Amino acid sequence: MDYSPSAKELSHFPFLKKAQDHVRGRFSTLDSLLADPRNVTLVELSVARVRDAMVPKKTPDYSVAGSPEEEIAGYALARIIVSCVNDRQLIDRLTRFEAERAYHFLVSEEEWNPSCRLDESGYSRLCIALAGELGVPVLQDRMPLAEYVELVAPLHEDRYHLVNRRVGHGFVEIRRGEGYELLRERIRFLLRQGLPHKVPTAVCDLLAPRVADLKRAYQEQMLQQFGAIEENAFPPCMQALIRALTAGTNLTHAGRFALTTFVHTIGMDVPAIAKLYARSPDFDPEKTMYQVEHITGRGGSGTEYTAPACAAMRTTGLCVRRDSLCEIVNHPLSYYRAKKRDLAHRPKKKEENEQEKPVPST
Ligand code: SF4
Repeated sequence: MDYSPSAKELSHFPFLKKAQDHVRGRFSTLDSLLADPRNVTLVELSVARVRDAMVPKKTPDYSVAGSPEEEIAGYALARIIVSCVNDRQLIDRLTRFEAERAYHFLVSEEEWNPSCRLDESGYSRLCIALAGELGVPVLQDRMPLAEYVELVAPLHEDRYHLVNRRVGHGFVEIRRGEGYELLRERIRFLLRQGLPHKVPTAVCDLLAPRVADLKRAYQEQMLQQFGAIEENAFPPCMQALIRALTAGTNLTHAGRFALTTFVHTIGMDVPAIAKLYARSPDFDPEKTMYQVEHITGRGGSGTEYTAPACAAMRTTGLCVRRDSLCEIVNHPLSYYRAKKRDLAHRPKKKEENEQEKPVPST
């Protein structure tokens, strides 16, 4: 269907080709745009977008602050900014934020879009056009198996598991109403695929003060989020890696990478991480420091690697001794956060229980 979205509609889905076409030519080249003080509001808007993505909120604020054109350009500039920051986790957060934002505007379209009309399929013309551009067959009741598996990999609900679906002739059934979620996953996947951009150094230099502020804020936020390191809250996979080190086993490259990125993200500094490896039989201090500094982004490349998610851990055989909490998380860091919260509440629960105990009669 050939549908021409309005500027407002495009600004809610700024990753669409038509949205990018809409602003093409309205702004000067990137470096002159950044050097021009009149564009300070646009830069602020983009930085605010990254900050919003940085701190996941239970009820995120997706309000639109600028004109449609500024919103679209702000989206693109935010992607350039995180490419200059070049932190995988921040890039993941921005893409998840953009996908959730788009999902929010899709499911609430009747509230913000006066021209929204749902057809007999239950989807609006805008949604159908968007799905067409992104290749998600929302109007059909099945999709190719390989595409389905890729799309639903991060989703936990049992209903998405292949065992709970009709599968045949290379296709998987999709059910009415699932189109929005599949679209969200598709958007996340596509937006992630395109990052980081190769941004010219001159552009990153112009953004340097903003990038430095964001890096600082992100580091603070991560440390606040994870707080003091609590080994008891480590997920089973990380505990197994540490136990293996302590027992004198050499870890595989994947094991070292997973453990290093995990402990680095929760706030362990480089010397402390290297000390962990001192338990290993082939411990080579210099080589270890080099590897750790490389993985944690202090080795010159500037790239900070992120701990692998559970799916990747499973692929490399590192997901072991799963427990009940593992059933509801998809990342060792989410496990750690949840377990830490739980441990923090336990003494309180114990105290409360003790207070409630009846006083024994004498
Ligand atoms: S499910 Fe995730 S957190 Fe649990 S052991 Fe496996 S990789 Fe670790």
